[in-house]
Amino acid sequence: MLTLENIQVKIGPVEAVRGFSMSVEPGAMVGLAGRNGAGKTTVMRAIMGIAAVSRGRIRFDGQDMAKQPVHARAAEGIGYMPETRGLIPELSVEENMLLPSWVISGLDGKARLDFVYEVMPELKGMAKRKALQLSGGQQKMVALGRALTAGHRLLLLDEPFEGVAPALAQRLSDVISALKSEKLSIVMSMSEMTHSHTVLDHVFGIERGANAMDAAA
Ligand code: ATP
Repeated sequence: MLTLENIQVKIGPVEAVRGFSMSVEPGAMVGLAGRNGAGKTTVMRAIMGIAAVSRGRIRFDGQDMAKQPVHARAAEGIGYMPETRGLIPELSVEENMLLPSWVISGLDGKARLDFVYEVMPELKGMAKRKALQLSGGQQKMVALGRALTAGHRLLLLDEPFEGVAPALAQRLSDVISALKSEKLSIVMSMSEMTHSHTVLDHVFGIERGANAMDAAA
């Protein structure tokens, strides 16, 4: 479903990703493991189209993504949960989650929101609260909800458990595990394996912007 072929990403003069390859099958839950600074975030930004690839290829469903802007990739069903959450603090929880449907034509925001509330009913109770009023862990849940609004085929989760209190991390993990289905693939980055509560089908290691170990989990 998703393949990265020896991608290189430069941030100014810095080669943040030097040559990284991976493939993700439909319905697979895949880990992207590496230390801080290894290049995990940059790989995710490249898949989403936020960071430009200077060499190599990204294919989604066999289609070359090189020329596709971010909104086109989102419209293909790719959702991104950044490590920094990226919520708009003054908007409500529900507005933050509806954001993708405001910019992606043809996306039924209401239907996607119903699905998000089905998998995370606790978000319904905080729907009208501003994002800035929530704890960091709650904001992570909202960021996952927003990623799900667009991401009905591929979810990119950047360190979803990072900085989240253990009880909420377990809840997030349960939600992510429950999302596993034949149609939805998930790529989840992690800097510590101990934080990966979820069951992974495969783990790709990344070290200094290139492939490290690569193992079926
Ligand atoms: P972390 O978990 O700490 O975010 P990461 O594995 O996600 O780590 P990246 O954020 O992708 O790593 O960073 C990869 C490399 O690119 C690092 O060496 C980092 O210093 C460099 N880098 C990232 N963003 C920038 C930037 N804006 N300017 C310069 N260098 C950058």
